[in-house]
Amino acid sequence: MKKGWTAADELRGALADLEVSLRIYVPGYPITDAVPALGEEAQMATNEKVAMEVALGASAAGRRSMVLVKHLGVNLLSDPLSIAPSHSIGSGLVVLAGEDVGPRGSQAEMDTRNYGPLCEIPVLEPSGPGLLRPALEEAYALSEKIRAPAMVRTTFEFGGGDGGPELAPAESSAHHDERKFGRFATFDRSIWDLTAKGRHQRYRIEALPQMRSASERSDLNLLREGGGDLGIIASGRAASFASKMDLPLLVVGFSHPLPAEMIREFVSEHDKILVAEEPAPFIEARLLAREGVFGKLTGHLPWGKMEEGDVERAAELIASGKKPGPAAPPQRFDEGLASKTVCDDCPYLPLYEAVADLSVPVAGDAGCSIRAVRAPPAAVDVVYGLGSSVAVASGFGEKGVAIIGDYALAHSGLLGLIDAVINKREVLVVLLKNGVAAMTGGQTVPDITPILERIVPDLRTIDLPARRDEIGEVLAQELAKAGVSLVVARGVCPRYDPAA
Ligand code: SF4
Repeated sequence: MKKGWTAADELRGALADLEVSLRIYVPGYPITDAVPALGEEAQMATNEKVAMEVALGASAAGRRSMVLVKHLGVNLLSDPLSIAPSHSIGSGLVVLAGEDVGPRGSQAEMDTRNYGPLCEIPVLEPSGPGLLRPALEEAYALSEKIRAPAMVRTTFEFGGGDGGPELAPAESSAHHDERKFGRFATFDRSIWDLTAKGRHQRYRIEALPQMRSASERSDLNLLREGGGDLGIIASGRAASFASKMDLPLLVVGFSHPLPAEMIREFVSEHDKILVAEEPAPFIEARLLAREGVFGKLTGHLPWGKMEEGDVERAAELIASGKKPGPAAPPQRFDEGLASKTVCDDCPYLPLYEAVADLSVPVAGDAGCSIRAVRAPPAAVDVVYGLGSSVAVASGFGEKGVAIIGDYALAHSGLLGLIDAVINKREVLVVLLKNGVAAMTGGQTVPDITPILERIVPDLRTIDLPARRDEIGEVLAQELAKAGVSLVVARGVCPRYDPAA
């Protein structure tokens, strides 16, 4: 890795060298910082499933493609992702998934490595920005060899950070047939001669051994040999912490399938093994049957994000033979932690207050409306993710309110609205239309009002700023009607005002 380069710089260089022509993304923390590296040809998709499907089409037509998403976005694209391996693809397709360990800019923490065994795809994990390029090279080569998507997941920031642990690759076989490319293959239609069961059989017979071989020989697995009672197995960001200690260390850079032989050999050399990884005990859980394995499941390391010093403390605890103390209590906002609330100058503030006045259940969304859960204005009761509010509010029974931003509606909320109209559900949808995705960096959102007018012809419009009582009157009238109501609240976010 060149001095001063970031992970985003590594990504930019790798995409150019690998001739990845289709680059598609859905913004969100932590991958928004990586989006400029996709270059001018980058396309922002309305949602992750669409992004994956566009990439599959490009791959089938012989174009290398990349889907860049945050960890939770993998959930949405997992439907086509789970079908693609046995179906087979054309040219290389890589899903680059940025893990929000913490979580810092997401509603939930998740470990995307689990999609490896679930979808039977290879998952590679560079332990630092300096290994991102080799990870992408290996991933594209393997994807083209097994004709299936590969995933590269990251736990580091794209905008900065060091290069990661400076250790030698565990396997120095000077190969690397793992990096031979299939050169822009198109989709092979002979797959349709097989039944659905036959396609799975083919994939398991042909692809799985190649994945296992690639895992054992990957340059992403790093090793610091040494004797002693305790050895550390680490992955991702946690490997940097572990590398600062003077202990034998195996950095696992291939998460699925795990390099089983390499791990077996390392484990056989030490009586005690500490597993340092984020955010979940993915590797540790697979070693549990063996005595003397320590990590998150044994309480020696915290779940989720780890901090400098955690690995050292765990090693000392293991050496002392003492039991770990109780887990830290759940973190609270009233401990002085900053919470994102609705901005003081937000044009939607009186609308939130008017919604709170209605005293009906309110579903919010993973846009700015999630900021309205706490006081003031404490208008929103539940938030089950981006694009969810219309369908969630449809389930309240009594007519309640769904507050949704225009980005969330285009992302996936539209399907909930169509369902509500078709099934004659009781719901008042309040659309916060400001033309930007304010929570993910102000990306432009297309105007879908003409589509909405076809779905809910009697929709009403409120222009903000407006008085709380005026807004309240419109909302109360719509709430009193039977069926689906839609109120479009047009405002300008001062953080992303095009006129400013
Ligand atoms: S829409 Fe803009 S002003 Fe309103 S809460 Fe979001 S970022 Fe703040």
